[in-house]
Amino acid sequence: MEDQRHQDGASVQLGSEQAAVPDATMVGWTAPEMTVFACAACGAALTGPLKRLSAVPEAPDYAWWEAEEMGPSPATVPSGCYAIETEPYGPPLVVAEAPGPVMPRHGTHYNLDGQPLVSQGPRGNIVMNPDDCRGLTTRHASAACCGATPDGGLNQVCACGTLVATLCSDCCLPYELHLSPDHVRALSFPSPGSNLTE
Ligand SMILES: [Zn+2]
Ligand SMILES: [Zn+2]
Repeated sequence: MEDQRHQDGASVQLGSEQAAVPDATMVGWTAPEMTVFACAACGAALTGPLKRLSAVPEAPDYAWWEAEEMGPSPATVPSGCYAIETEPYGPPLVVAEAPGPVMPRHGTHYNLDGQPLVSQGPRGNIVMNPDDCRGLTTRHASAACCGATPDGGLNQVCACGTLVATLCSDCCLPYELHLSPDHVRALSFPSPGSNLTE
């Protein structure tokens, strides 16, 4: 005899999880919620106030091989915004049965023996327009031709010397900055009771 199942899996879990980034589904704000990202080590603001998008947009179509000058493609994320990457990003890459994403929006990768690779890199990166970031310098972690590649992992250093982000700016790659959720703090803007100004 089949009984109806009790829905006791629906217990409420308020405040049990502390996300690094504010939940965009939270409502009740009259103004759009903005977030400033700061270095977790020294507290320096690395961005201005940014608005969260519900997902990382598709990278714009861009024929980089036809471009007159080498340089970054149009940015994946519009200026003034950020989004949370749900896929793993970048190294370590491991050999897999079938090719999978190693870097969202940048096709499939194979090792020198032709074996397909997948990423076991970090998830939950904060993806933003590199032009919106300040105070970071590039420490190349992997060779690139005219920009920076995420192939070697974190490659952006805060003034305090901490690696906090990965810049992807070489000409044939999506133009993105990935803040590491483990190395930055999200501050709501304007922060309550403070006088944070540009
Ligand atoms: Zn710092
Ligand atoms: Zn290049």
